[in-house]
Amino acid sequence: MKLENEITVAGLSCGQVLDRLSDYQDGDLSPAERTQVEAHLRGCDRCARFGGEFRVVVDALRSRLARTPPVPRDFRERLRRALDSERP
Ligand SMILES: [Zn+2]
Repeated sequence: MKLENEITVAGLSCGQVLDRLSDYQDGDLSPAERTQVEAHLRGCDRCARFGGEFRVVVDALRSRLARTPPVPRDFRERLRRALDSERP
């Protein structure tokens, strides 16, 4: 992601931080990357604000997904068969 007027804090540009936010949320970043992202968020108002909003969005999505009823059994069966038939 490339942003206008982005700044570099803690060795990461705003775009790089935003690219990492979802991994950050998922805990997929290495400890070093996490520290860098957090340092950037502390030093950059814009990303801190965006990061805060992003967190809200992700939390809302997660809770909506968690409430989604499980996929019907026959649908899973059909999906499995469809995937099986695509295998070489
Ligand atoms: Zn930033």
